[in-house]
Amino acid sequence: MGGSPLRILVVGAGIAGLAVARALRMVGFRPDVTDKLPPGEGELTDTGLYLPGNAARALRRLDLDGPVRPLGQVVHRQRFLDAAGAPLCEVDLDALWAGVGECRALPRAELHRVLLTGAGGAVRHGAEVRTIDLLPTSVGVTFVDGTTTEYDLVIGADGPRSSIRTLAALGGPPRPAGQVVYRAVVRDGPRVAEWTALLGQRSGFLVVPIGAGRLHCYADEAGTALPADPVARLRELFGDYRGPVPAVLEALDRVHVGITDEVELGRWSRGRVLLVGDAAHATAPTLSQGAAMALEDAVVLAESLKAAGSVEAALTAYESRRRPRTRWVRDRTRDRNRTRDVPPALRDPLLRGRGGRIFGDHYRLLLGPL
Ligand SMILES: Cc1cc2nc3c(=O)[nH]c(=O)nc-3n(C[C@H](O)[C@H](O)[C@H](O)COP(=O)(O)OP(=O)(O)OC[C@H]3O[C@@H](n4cnc5c(N)ncnc54)[C@H](O)[C@@H]3O)c2cc1C
Repeated sequence: MGGSPLRILVVGAGIAGLAVARALRMVGFRPDVTDKLPPGEGELTDTGLYLPGNAARALRRLDLDGPVRPLGQVVHRQRFLDAAGAPLCEVDLDALWAGVGECRALPRAELHRVLLTGAGGAVRHGAEVRTIDLLPTSVGVTFVDGTTTEYDLVIGADGPRSSIRTLAALGGPPRPAGQVVYRAVVRDGPRVAEWTALLGQRSGFLVVPIGAGRLHCYADEAGTALPADPVARLRELFGDYRGPVPAVLEALDRVHVGITDEVELGRWSRGRVLLVGDAAHATAPTLSQGAAMALEDAVVLAESLKAAGSVEAALTAYESRRRPRTRWVRDRTRDRNRTRDVPPALRDPLLRGRGGRIFGDHYRLLLGPL
């Protein structure tokens, strides 16, 4: 169906929506893209992102590896330390992802800019969908300003709290995955050359260089209640951690805090409505696979629409290709999160012996083809 005049609406201009728009344009479609927020407010402007090698492969397939290559920093190793800063294990990322793609950490807003340019058409901002009407071979869409348009396919890329998911009766609110997560970018922090995580009990602290001397910091703790003062809470939680943590805590200024969401659905489409990205399969960010899964979704969706004889056949083919990989990410994320409850006295000897192999193995299926 590539190049056929399908009327397609992509709801949400985050990583998934913009990547889908890019991929669809590459096979000849001209989708409309809308976002409920005004320009520049959709992405957390001052946070970083770590992209494992399969994200680089998907960016290559979207022909966006060129603009992304100068951004941020290639990450060669993951270093896992205990809370006192003593080494537990390492993952050699160049070896793990050889033949797939480089691992990279970068400011989130910079990836967003590349995707926005790559999406190729204007995003309609402030255009929230109010209702959808599932017709036999199309979808009637009414926006909050009262305008109504009919589409052959509506793609819900509106994140973990997707309203398209609710409007199409594909699922309800996300399930809290059980962590409070903190993110910040530190400018005058310590020198950290590689991805470095300090593992405590039911909490952890990660620091990754994202280029130009900046560090992306991510910390989490078990729970679902947001603290009133995130910086004070971080200093309280991680005050006795060592390694780079004291200097990072000292340099912290603005911290974003939230809770993790998990979305698990029996199906991703109903009629001519399909969910992609976090709207379909959000997990806690433990494996940093959210962006990679969204980019892979885009590549596979465009291929499926191009190859299939009908929209329905394309959506079936898409879901059957994407399910195994997103299920793998969800299951390995849950596995890894369960180990957070194990006391360090039991966990750390195991990690010192086999941690590199265990952590690398969490990506095994993702090394294979899409
Ligand atoms: C703390 C934390 C750290 C993370 N770290 C990483 C990491 O290092 N690496 C990684 O790969 N992933 C990471 N992730 C996951 C990653 O951020 C997500 O998987 C990814 O952003 C999903 O993109 P998305 O486009 O599906 O959803 P979103 O980024 O949520 O985008 C959804 C878009 O839809 C818009 N929207 C919402 N509702 C509507 C509506 N009703 N109508 C129109 N538009 C709407 C929003 O404004 C937004 O622009 C992290 C997540 C968290 C919470």
